Amino acid sequence: MYDDNNIFAKILRGEIPCKKLHEDEHTLAFDDINPQAPVHALVIPKGKYVSMKDFAAKASDVEIAAFVRAVGKVAALKGLDESGYRILANAGLNAHQEVPHLHVHIFGGRALGPMLIKH
Ligand code: AMP
Repeated sequence: MYDDNNIFAKILRGEIPCKKLHEDEHTLAFDDINPQAPVHALVIPKGKYVSMKDFAAKASDVEIAAFVRAVGKVAALKGLDESGYRILANAGLNAHQEVPHLHVHIFGGRALGPMLIKH
């Protein structure tokens, strides 16, 4: 079930502000409010999708294409094509997804270290 009161739904409705990086018919991208790297951007679909599972199952091909293209566009916009970057999408409990609206994080601007900490 999609929660219409999640923070990204509020951003999409214009109820709270964001530092917008990119917008098209199907996608919005903005800076993360609590950056974990010199560049930390978020890309979200405008549709009501909780996670990648939801998006992959229900989104149209046009929405999926717009989302993927937006990720590439924002990374380039942030000047990360040469230096490199990491994209990450948390889904569900084990990944500690905080906001239940699909989002891809784009991290860059420094060496990002190992992909995961081993325990
Ligand atoms: P996740 O743990 O993958 O669900 O990540 C949620 C991300 O949303 C975190 O990196 C937060 O810093 C970010 N975030 C939460 N509220 C806002 C907001 N109002 N504007 C921008 N980013 C936000």
